[in-house]
Amino acid sequence: MEKLKMTTPLVEMDGDEMTRILWKQIKDELLLPYIDLKTEYYDLGLPERERTKDQVTADSAEATKQYGVAVKCATITPNAQRVEEYKLSQMWKSPNGTIRAILDGTVFRSPIMVHGISPVVKTWKRPITIARHAYGDVYRASEYRVPGPGKAELLYTGAGGQTFRQTIYDFECAGVLQGQYNKDSSISSFARSCFQYALDTKQDLWFSTKDTISKQYDHTFKDIFQEIYDAEYKTQFESMGIEYFYTLIDDAVARVIRSQGGFIWACKNYDGDVMSDMVSTAFGSLAMMTSVLVSPDGKYEFEAAHGTVTRHYYKYLEGEAPSTNPMATIFAWTGALSKRGELDHLPGLTAFARKLEQACIDTIESGVMTKDLSAMWEGETPARTVTSVAFLQAIRARLDTLLTG
Ligand code: NAP
Ligand code: MG
Repeated sequence: MEKLKMTTPLVEMDGDEMTRILWKQIKDELLLPYIDLKTEYYDLGLPERERTKDQVTADSAEATKQYGVAVKCATITPNAQRVEEYKLSQMWKSPNGTIRAILDGTVFRSPIMVHGISPVVKTWKRPITIARHAYGDVYRASEYRVPGPGKAELLYTGAGGQTFRQTIYDFECAGVLQGQYNKDSSISSFARSCFQYALDTKQDLWFSTKDTISKQYDHTFKDIFQEIYDAEYKTQFESMGIEYFYTLIDDAVARVIRSQGGFIWACKNYDGDVMSDMVSTAFGSLAMMTSVLVSPDGKYEFEAAHGTVTRHYYKYLEGEAPSTNPMATIFAWTGALSKRGELDHLPGLTAFARKLEQACIDTIESGVMTKDLSAMWEGETPARTVTSVAFLQAIRARLDTLLTG
């Protein structure tokens, strides 16, 4: 079979530890034999970030702006222990944070569903995608431990000198105080990324806040979403037959649990932090969770939601053949290839990506899987736990059948 051609390079961001090992195995086993892979390679592994003083991370994000589609391997976010382990000159920032800041994007997380691994919530038949606004609110708040009686005020001084002052509370005893903010520009980018992604994936978009209680703060989020929807997206949503739906966060929680899934749930920063852990746990495994960063102007960075799986890496270094699940990393590649195919009008590339995804799902549904999944397996055929390498080979065999069949 002739290899598939690409016209525009994918931005390839390599990473660390076990996922870096899987990265190469996935390319060798499932991509390079079939595709004339065109990538612009950036090594985001920690040694290279150290060598380039983290310039490589910024460069990879700029390349994503230029080419439009990136695929990223999991990377170490350094802490004190990593600074020592890798002899770092600085505790470099999280690459994901840096890339997100440059692209001004929103992260969408969705589970990969297979028969035999059922969500805890029985009614969920299709994936629920969570979009978290990753800017401001409690994550950038100013806080004060109030020591005793005294008046707390909200004071704003405009650039032109005008002021707004309001008493928050007249403390009669000790207490706590917090000041939060967000920006219209950030909320608008969040809204556009969500509407864009709903159109891309042909799914309804839900958005929830607590606007009945927070009549200025949360209400502003609701208003900005509605204004942007009406002005820029309503017609497209209607012609595609999808819906934008706003509701109170309490109501959203109740509806999500009773739903069948198959929609995007956009959440404010804190709600998204908490709800994404709830939803991903209920769907099963972190190793089956994919993630895509979408910028408001339609640039995409695909990755797995999990980290570098350090514990497995150390066993691998000791000579063990680990049974680490490569699904989310493979789906990062298929997401990126399929988007590249769509943008470059290469239907063969998109079709290949879909077949590879099918081969992955078929492999698990036939009972062949990594250790993390066999622990949760409820399928009819007994689970056969295999190493990552054997799992990739099993996927390749199925892929060959799908491609020739
Ligand atoms: P992790 O790499 O996600 O792994 C935590 C545990 O979850 C693993 O020890 C393993 O459990 C299980 N697991 C996760 N992915 C798996 C997979 N594909 N297959 C099988 N099991 C899987 O999180 P971490 O250990 O907290 O973090 C490790 C490093 O990753 C850190 O340096 C962190 O900074 C980084 N990180 C990066 C990203 C990113 O780049 N997006 C995200 C999160 C964390 P068992 O050990 O029980 O088998
Ligand atoms: Mg969390």
